[in-house]
Amino acid sequence: MVFIGIDLGGTNIAVGVVSEAGSLLAETSAKTLAERPYKEIVKDMAACVMKAVTRAGLTEADIQSIGIGIPGVADAEQGLVLNCTNLGWINVPLREEMQKYINKPVFIDNDANVAALAESYFGVSAGYKSSVMITLGTGVGGGIVINGRTWTGAHGRGGEIGHMTLVPDGAPCTCGNNGCVERYCSATALIRLGKQECYSFPNCGIMQKAGGNINKVNARTVIDAAKEGDASALRVFNSFVKYLALTINNITSSLDPDIIVLGGGVSHAGDFLLNAVAAELPRYQMFKALPIPKLALARLGNEAGIVGAAMLGK
Ligand SMILES: [Zn+2]
Repeated sequence: MVFIGIDLGGTNIAVGVVSEAGSLLAETSAKTLAERPYKEIVKDMAACVMKAVTRAGLTEADIQSIGIGIPGVADAEQGLVLNCTNLGWINVPLREEMQKYINKPVFIDNDANVAALAESYFGVSAGYKSSVMITLGTGVGGGIVINGRTWTGAHGRGGEIGHMTLVPDGAPCTCGNNGCVERYCSATALIRLGKQECYSFPNCGIMQKAGGNINKVNARTVIDAAKEGDASALRVFNSFVKYLALTINNITSSLDPDIIVLGGGVSHAGDFLLNAVAAELPRYQMFKALPIPKLALARLGNEAGIVGAAMLGK
């Protein structure tokens, strides 16, 4: 039997056939074309599944389950997508719609949870009872995994680390609140603060890395300039690290997981980021003599979305 994993994004639908051991046996993808009615998108998802299964030399009878990672909030029990801003979906009966085409068990979860699950099966948090993954991308995602299962809470909001309030009345967030983690610990935050430095210090290292064009400032230009010791870039980077350490401390105080995994585009800063956060953490830690969660970088790449979704059915 094989497990189907679907990574449903605002741009692409990626589908994979995954073995029990986590190997990706076949893949297909299609454009999401998010402005379409959801029924058309689900129909294409089902077609992709059958194409991938055929490509793997298998049939529908070999499918154990279908897992779907969505960029939004799911009601896993009811198989509903409660809210998905990218797709404009509200209360979409995704499981029921998928089962019209392929009558197998269907599991739905948030994409950040699914990435955390993939790491806990086949990545850096494998073998640990509890883990929390923080995805540092355009926004900040979070996934909690306990004993091989994602924890999404009573209302599907569990693990929404990006929208914990860090700064009361702080920077406005896309979620409607102010001062969310995501406003201070994302690639978007690095860019916002990096550009501010460029306005104040037009000769700073960030501006140089961006080739003198402020519109080319991105997370990498900031990180690269910080690595070279540029004062402006270090101000931005140190603020990022401080807020990330605060976030990790809040997670530790509420969940105390075995391991905290940093993933997403900004985590490509590697040990430079990891070591800086590890050095900052003890400042905020309660009961300083207690051991703290292990901190590590995510190991899986793009395939984590498919493989993690597939493991929802395990
Ligand atoms: Zn928010």
